[in-house]
Amino acid sequence: MNTLFDLSGKTAIVTGGSTGLGAGMAVGLAEAGADIVLVDRTGCSETAKQIESMGRKTINIVADLSTITPIDMIMQRTLQEFGKVDILVNNAGIIRRTPAIDFSEKDWDEVMAINSKTVFFFCQAVGRDMMKRKYGKIINISSLLAFQGGILVPSYAASKAAVAQMTKALANEWAPHGITINAIAPGYMATNNTKPLRDDPVRSKSILDRIPAGRWGLPDDLKGVAVFLASHASDYVNGHVLVVDGGWMAR
Ligand code: NAD
Repeated sequence: MNTLFDLSGKTAIVTGGSTGLGAGMAVGLAEAGADIVLVDRTGCSETAKQIESMGRKTINIVADLSTITPIDMIMQRTLQEFGKVDILVNNAGIIRRTPAIDFSEKDWDEVMAINSKTVFFFCQAVGRDMMKRKYGKIINISSLLAFQGGILVPSYAASKAAVAQMTKALANEWAPHGITINAIAPGYMATNNTKPLRDDPVRSKSILDRIPAGRWGLPDDLKGVAVFLASHASDYVNGHVLVVDGGWMAR
């Protein structure tokens, strides 16, 4: 493999790796050579099977990231098994859809907790390990709703804008430590997250009509960008929010 994109010998933690975009990125990083720590509130046995079939190592950690409590345990198990963390993909996230006028405190707090607070403290935990070796690649999963308000999802939009901004803030502080920290802003991707939109013929048509690529995105569409941001190919890319949206933002 071209050494620019080669992840052999690297250890990557991927949160929310059981399905959807997290599963796609975990498999993509493994295809490029990385060993993978899969973290999810449900097990990631299907993703783990695919990774192991390529001859990569994986551990499967069941943890609820709605609080930051499990982060220490995840770091300990990762360091026991692999001795280091080279790559973090902060992907686990949730969405709640309700008109803003009726939006509950619970839906605000639960979305902000996992999508934003846990993302920051996971960066901090891996940052401490990466600083020891002056090397690390952090990829946070933001959204087009870091730039746009969306419809019926105020806490989600706020949480994803927070991800974009903390990514830039951390890049400023941690570049001197050899760490790059970037975000991916996926467009409209066909996963559980967007099932209600795809099941609604009116929303589904209006979304599809605006995507120049003429289709919803798929987990595989994030493999290349995840490998790029996890590899030496992106060593001078820092604090960037990279849109992967089939051209949506260009319209
Ligand atoms: P998904 O619902 O298919 O997957 C989310 C994953 O996160 C699941 O594996 C789930 O088990 C895990 N997860 C959720 N809550 C958790 C918790 N408390 N603890 C541990 N794991 C938990 O959705 P997806 O579309 O694959 O979303 C992945 C990321 O991409 C999310 O951050 C989402 O906001 C973001 N995103 C998705 C889209 C899209 O169109 N699908 C667009 C932009 C951003």
